[in-house]
Amino acid sequence: MDKKEMTCIVCPMGCCLEIETDGSHYKITGNRCKRGEEYAVRELISPMRVLTSTVRLKNSYIRKLPVRTNGAIPKSLMFDCIDVLKTIELEPPVKIGDVIVKNILNTGVNVISSRSI
Ligand code: SF4
Repeated sequence: MDKKEMTCIVCPMGCCLEIETDGSHYKITGNRCKRGEEYAVRELISPMRVLTSTVRLKNSYIRKLPVRTNGAIPKSLMFDCIDVLKTIELEPPVKIGDVIVKNILNTGVNVISSRSI
């Protein structure tokens, strides 16, 4: 049995989780609710994250527009998504929440603007 520790980031309680696994079964302790158990298993099998980054702006007093995904994407695709964002150059006006990249890398998640310019 392998033992791992991680902090649950689903809510601000930040429970310290302890996971014992043989590779196919998981025993989770330290969670105050069921969501912590689900988070731990997902984190071990296929970790997901919200991506925050920037894209280039031209003809603007600000050179970079902050963007983020509107949902979590597989952690393994983070660098590929950043490569896609590096190819983009926008011009104002851009409104907060505008979709910058729809369904990035077929994840079903959009990249949206984090501010208006
Ligand atoms: S286990 Fe539940 S209570 Fe604890 S941090 Fe995760 S979501 Fe919050």
